[in-house]
Amino acid sequence: MTSFRTLDDLGDIAGQRALVRVDLNVPMADGAVTDDTRLRAHVPTITELSDAGAKVLLLAHFGRPKGEYRPEFSLQPVVPALSDVLGRDVTFMERPSGAAIADLPNGAIVMIENTRFAAGEEKNDPQMAKMIASFGDFYVNDAFSVSHRAHMSTEGLTHFLPAYAGRAMQAELTALEAALGNPEHPVAAVVGGAKVSTKLDVLEHLVTKVDHLIIGGGMANTFLAARGVDVGKSLCEHDLTDTAVAILEAADAADCTVHLPYDVVVAKEFAANPPTRTVNVHEVAADEMILDIGPAAVEALADVLKTCKTLVWNGPLGAFETPPFDTATVALAQTAAALTREGSLVSVAGGGDTVAALNHAGVADDFTFVSTAGGAFLEWMEGKELPGVAALSA
Ligand code: ADP
Ligand code: MG
Repeated sequence: MTSFRTLDDLGDIAGQRALVRVDLNVPMADGAVTDDTRLRAHVPTITELSDAGAKVLLLAHFGRPKGEYRPEFSLQPVVPALSDVLGRDVTFMERPSGAAIADLPNGAIVMIENTRFAAGEEKNDPQMAKMIASFGDFYVNDAFSVSHRAHMSTEGLTHFLPAYAGRAMQAELTALEAALGNPEHPVAAVVGGAKVSTKLDVLEHLVTKVDHLIIGGGMANTFLAARGVDVGKSLCEHDLTDTAVAILEAADAADCTVHLPYDVVVAKEFAANPPTRTVNVHEVAADEMILDIGPAAVEALADVLKTCKTLVWNGPLGAFETPPFDTATVALAQTAAALTREGSLVSVAGGGDTVAALNHAGVADDFTFVSTAGGAFLEWMEGKELPGVAALSA
């Protein structure tokens, strides 16, 4: 993806109807939004369109109602929270109606009920797309996080309306392009997390793209085992050691240096603050498990990052939710943050647990870009074309 249409490509839109796909899938408790991060991301797009006089019609899903009306998945309870972050009125429309939309004043902001209450949404039904498209003059996708799905509201509408990236989508695509599409070299990738099996495609794609592949977390154990290391009781996918060897060979062939830890933090039980040992990877006892990478490894990795211009990070280096196994993740994240602040590193990170880990380290705001997109971020790291993004290409 090199070039895509943005709001800058819109002409005079006063009085026009904008169908805008947003991500309103926010956490709720007792009928109220508990974290409005996702809502705040869409403020620039919504206010810009509204200020230009467009009638802004928001489309989004909420939860998994599976194509039928289920009151517990209504978007109506999100209206007050969205109105709060915008500082503007937002009205709710259970069913879009041409007459009601025609009566709206220019600049009005309307939330339309959960797109997934209709079966045609997830089926990407062209009939539904055509019907919904008839309520708009143009389409804006501001929700990268749902753009790995070819649904009516992410892809289908683009067959019937001119389509543009909203400002949040634009920021995400620009950051991802700088990190992996067309990055400044050397590029380092940190891949951690629990299992190799969930990130095989990511690893296979990255070895062809980056100069340094840093493997940590539980998945490093599978690679260590593939190299003949006895990892004791550690989380390890022994059935994937051949795959790990193949990835190491592919990296070699592509001139990608793979970094595995040479010291690790081990414990006999997985609990908060148990007795631990820091040992060379060859000294893990049969009744011990590796729960974090060690301080010597972290120092070596910090030196690698200092030589790099670009970093892309997915997956924690250890079992960071349980102290002290957050140590390596926090330390390397702080190094990356400092290098980014100094201007020597472009740093992009994503993944549900990765975002939590960077927040825990207190550095999420220091990274160049942190994606909260989850599945879409991973598919992008796998080098896949995202249907909702491809539909915006200029
Ligand atoms: P993300 O959500 O950012 O893509 P993952 O879901 O792949 O990340 O991995 C995160 C999980 O990996 C965390 O719950 C963490 O505790 C776990 N993990 C990391 N290192 C280890 C380890 N050495 N042993 C067991 N679990 C680990
Ligand atoms: Mg996860």
